[in-house]
This record gives sequence, C-alpha cells and structure tokens, in this order.
Amino acid sequence: MKRRELISALAGAAAATTLSACGKQEEVAAPAVHTGKVYRWKMVTTWPKNFPGLGTGANRVAELIEQLSGGRIKVKVYGAGELVGAFEVFDAVSQGTAQLGHGGAYYWKGKIAASPFFSAVPFGFTPDEINAWFYYGDGLKLWEEAYRPFGLIPNPAGNTGPQMGGWFNREINSLEELKGLKMRIPGFGGEVLKRAGGVPVTLPGGEIFPALQSGAIDATEWVGPYNDLAFGLYKAAKYYYTPGWHEPGSAIECMINAQAFEALPKDLQAIVRGAMRQANLEMLAEYTARNEQALRTLVEKHGVVIKRFPDEVLRKLKQLTAEVIADVTARDPLAAKVWASQRAFLQQVGKWTDISEYSFLSARQL
Ligand code: CA
Repeated sequence: MKRRELISALAGAAAATTLSACGKQEEVAAPAVHTGKVYRWKMVTTWPKNFPGLGTGANRVAELIEQLSGGRIKVKVYGAGELVGAFEVFDAVSQGTAQLGHGGAYYWKGKIAASPFFSAVPFGFTPDEINAWFYYGDGLKLWEEAYRPFGLIPNPAGNTGPQMGGWFNREINSLEELKGLKMRIPGFGGEVLKRAGGVPVTLPGGEIFPALQSGAIDATEWVGPYNDLAFGLYKAAKYYYTPGWHEPGSAIECMINAQAFEALPKDLQAIVRGAMRQANLEMLAEYTARNEQALRTLVEKHGVVIKRFPDEVLRKLKQLTAEVIADVTARDPLAAKVWASQRAFLQQVGKWTDISEYSFLSARQL
C-alpha cells in the first residue's frame, strides 16, 4: 500500500485510480503521461524552411511525433540558417543545441568517411533496396555504429526516390565533356566527377540557383523534377540529364541526440522511432506522386530538354565509382566494414530486383 500511496502522490489521484482499476500496480512505466511532462525539442535541418518534399518532410516528422505522443513531445522545426547553417546540423545535434537534425548522411563525409553509404552510392541501391538493407540487413545497425561516437542516433526518415542526373548548359556526349566542369554534386558522386576531371562543389540546396545563375558553377544536380522546378533551376540551365546514376534512391536522415532520446520514457522512444518510419514511407510516396507532373511542367511550359547520358559515359562513371569506393574503403576501416555489408546485400537483393521489378518494368513497356 505504501508503494501505491507513493505512486498516487507522484502521479496524481486519477492516474493511481487507473492503475488500481487495471490491477497492475507493478507496471508504473510511462510516468510522463501522469505527471504531464512535456518535452520541448528543436529540429534543425539542412533544407530551406518548408521546401517541398524535404523541408515539408522534416515538418512531417515533427508533426507525427507531436500527434502520436498526444502532445507530450513538441518539436519546433528550424530551416537552414534559422538556428544553425545547413552544414552545421550534425554538430548542433551532437552538441545538444537541437535534439533532432534532418538532412542527408553524405553531407558529413568530412567527419565520417562511411557516411555516404547511408544516403546514396552511385549505381547502388534503389529506394526499396536501401530500406531493406536498413531494416532487414545490417544497414541501420552499422549506421548507428558510425554515429555513436558523436552521441547521435541516426534514422532513415525519408527517401527522394531516383534522382535526375543534373542540369547542364552543354551536351555530355563523352567523359571529356566533364573535364573542368564545375558542378554541384555531393557525396561519392562528387568524388567520381573529380576522377573524371571535373570540379565537384558541395553547396546546400538554398545556394544552388544563385551559384548556377551567376556562373560560379557550370552545372548542378539537386534532386528531381519536383524539387528542381521549385528552385527554378531551368532558368539557368537548358539540358536536364537522366539517369541519376549518382543517387538512385537517396535516403534522408533524421538524427537524434542520444542523451535526449535516452531521457525519454520507453513509449515515447518508440513513438519517435515510429514517426520516422512513417515519414520515410510518406516522403517516397510524395516524390513518386509529384515528379512526373513537375517534369511535364519543365518540358511543356519551360522548354527544358531531357537528355540521357550515353551508355559509354555511364559505363565509365561506373568504373570510376568502383575506384572511389576502393579508395575510401582502403583508407577507413569502418567504411570497409559498411561497404562489405552493403555490397553483399546489393548483390543478393539486386538479383531479385532484376528478376522481379526490372523484368516487370520491361514487360510494362511492351
Ligand atoms: Ca542530389
């Protein structure tokens, strides 16, 4: 009875009655609901505030966490530059300036050489395949290992779907035409461009259009029609290339400050993780739904010319990708470990994708 009285004093009469009525006095987990504690979190993002798909995807994570927790966690979302700069998100969450950070893992390759493996690898996973690796392979476990020294818990929280190959003002008929080309392209894709003689530049989304328009860069990739239309990239480049060899299905992340996460009751921890899984599903659906409409607008209204990279160019880019990965994995043991897992998984699921999806998509075109 003393224990009951203590619970009653701590959690209030209503809560104690509920416990008593359930006859489960021992299960006193989830005290937050009884004490009415509200966690006020901040989310910083690498995207412009409310940017379609990405910024709204960050908003959606915040909204889901609030809704699913019944308002016990409130999340305030900050666009790039509002609280910290786009590329300061990782440090801000690591240091506890914010509890959540929404971005892309390959932006942190200067801190963690293996990080691009968790967003996109050229000629690598499709969206379905990378999610399979995260949830049913070792992907998420390895990602957690990579972020743990920084006090961060990573989560897949979206996917852009297959991206486009980028915006150019010249036709790319051979690898020669990439020589000297100053292009905004992050992650391993940028390293591949460098090996092809180009000059990769990493810019946050919000800085791409002014750089392209002023000629500070010659070419850029961003995401796909839905997002590229929103930035007006068609106003500064004529040719829109496919396929997005460098980002075939980029995972978007939402990292959590580990200390803040561990301070949550177990049910709220499950809610936070569940919100991210739901956001992961929703973002991909949004891109799939919106990209073709935007592509039509780009072509029919703005006169954009769609081009496909010649097979010979793609073949060479694929060879250079293998060199880039060999280089990274030779220098960094964690990158080697992550790649060993990813390569094995890719070989395995890739066979199934070929026999199921690829085979079907060919049939659908007949
Ligand atoms: Ca991109």
